[in-house]
Amino acid sequence: MSHPFTWVPAANERHASKDPVSQGRIQYAEGQSVTTLCGQMVEACDNELAWLWWTCPTCDDETRAIVGVPLRTETSELS
Ligand SMILES: [Zn+2]
Repeated sequence: MSHPFTWVPAANERHASKDPVSQGRIQYAEGQSVTTLCGQMVEACDNELAWLWWTCPTCDDETRAIVGVPLRTETSELS
């Protein structure tokens, strides 16, 4: 099942975007300009390390709202 957004590592954070991905791809191409859910215009990165970057909290909340799951702050069990 697909969702109407795509994760995009950019600017040292992992953002999400509703921009369309090129046909035949599952993520944005390196250097592609993407508008993120948190309102930034970024250049996508496409390498393995980029996927280890910290998730943008605004995009995290936005995607959770789209998918319909609780916000991370409501599910975390920090001691
Ligand atoms: Zn973001």
